[in-house]
Amino acid sequence: MLKKLSIRMKVTLWFSVVLITVVILTYFVILSVSRQTIQKTIRDTLITAVENNVDEVEYFSSIDTSQAGSDVDYYMRYGDGYIEIDDDFLDEVNDIFTSLCQSDGTLLYGENPIMPETLDLDFLDSEIQRVRVNGTLYYVFDRQLEAEGLDGLWLRGIVSETQGEVELSAISRTSLILLPSLVLLAIIGGWLIARRALDPIREISGTAARIRQGDDLKKRIELSEGDDELHQLAGQFNEMFARLDDSFQAQQQFISDASHELRTPVSVINAQCELTLEESRTPEEYADALAVIWRQGRKMTRLISDMLDFTRLELQPERYAREVFDLTVLVEDVCHDMALIQENAISLSCEAEKEVLICGNRELMTRLLTNLISNAYRYGRPGGFIKVRLYSDKQASSSTGRIILSVQDNGIGIAEKDIPNIFRRFYQADASRSGKGNGLGLAMVKEIAAFHDGEVTVESTPGVGSTFSVILMVF
Ligand code: ADP
Repeated sequence: MLKKLSIRMKVTLWFSVVLITVVILTYFVILSVSRQTIQKTIRDTLITAVENNVDEVEYFSSIDTSQAGSDVDYYMRYGDGYIEIDDDFLDEVNDIFTSLCQSDGTLLYGENPIMPETLDLDFLDSEIQRVRVNGTLYYVFDRQLEAEGLDGLWLRGIVSETQGEVELSAISRTSLILLPSLVLLAIIGGWLIARRALDPIREISGTAARIRQGDDLKKRIELSEGDDELHQLAGQFNEMFARLDDSFQAQQQFISDASHELRTPVSVINAQCELTLEESRTPEEYADALAVIWRQGRKMTRLISDMLDFTRLELQPERYAREVFDLTVLVEDVCHDMALIQENAISLSCEAEKEVLICGNRELMTRLLTNLISNAYRYGRPGGFIKVRLYSDKQASSSTGRIILSVQDNGIGIAEKDIPNIFRRFYQADASRSGKGNGLGLAMVKEIAAFHDGEVTVESTPGVGSTFSVILMVF
């Protein structure tokens, strides 16, 4: 059942249960502490009232008639003399009663509301006793009088325990109104804050749903200003949507470019077939037509295999195992083989530092260097040169360093405006010169460099030549 509730409901419920428990406990603690304090105050007031009365009782062996006549003080015979009770003697103050008694309980002066029930209650000097009379509890405080002539006389103070009940019920009433009001306020406040705080989640799930329904990766989560955890989460979702959108678009672009690239050789093959089949041809004409078809077929095969390699490198890089190998040997071998091409009388030279070891994939590194050298031939100057260099650039202060593999030519160079684009798939700055190329060569070089945690840079001047450098970090 709980699982079906919204987070907001769960948080508020939990919070309310805890709050109500705390408030109930607080209520009982308040009541118990108040009761104890009030009872202690009652007992202290009782003691003070009795003690104050002690000095108001005096004994005289004979009586001065002028004093006896005064109507302010009270006189009574006791033993051989008189007891004088001063007019400051308070026999009832704030419901505390004080009486003057003899040891046998006989009341001589003052008030005792629980007589005769307590007539035989023992006198205990300076001690508080609790007595229940007719269901009501009373505190009784006795004090023996010690002044000369007052032997056998006691002051007995009495107060009802229920005297504190009025104050206690006032405290209880106030708490019963105040505490539930506070709980209610806290619950409503919590409910509203939870709604505000969880608003971004609604917006996030709404946007995700809209993207799912409309397949529109352009949608973004729009939140009001803020920098809490949910705003950060929304920001990360938006970034993720943007990246998904980018890679989705790149994918679409790749598919559309690839179809476009494939359409050209297919159209050429179709046109060639149509033309050749229009009438009967000589064996030489058929041979020419087949040569065209074969060339276009090879172009398609290369394109498809390049695209597959690309996809594999992008989606399953783990298929290319890494091992430590001597890059010098690989570079020298590739240069040796490719120098045999001698296209356009271009000469290829290789300058490689000995034993440059890297951890990578031989097949991919061979592909990278082959692509760069092929481009240098393709866009080179007739009779020109290609220089391949391999060297390491160790940093003296640390164990890390760089390995640089560069391919320099003195060919046609690249216009400044094309430089940012040449590493894009299918981009060809000068399609007429690309010949056998399909615009994937440099994109592959960049991807292979990234696979080896490296990067490719290019420096080029139109009409002078280009230098491509692959920089690999070694640790
Ligand atoms: P392509 O198959 O057309 O050679 P690449 O991806 O290898 O495709 O290269 C992209 C473009 O970069 C080429 O079309 C060409 O215009 C330019 N380019 C590449 N290498 C060189 C170079 N060494 N000299 C001049 N231009 C180059």
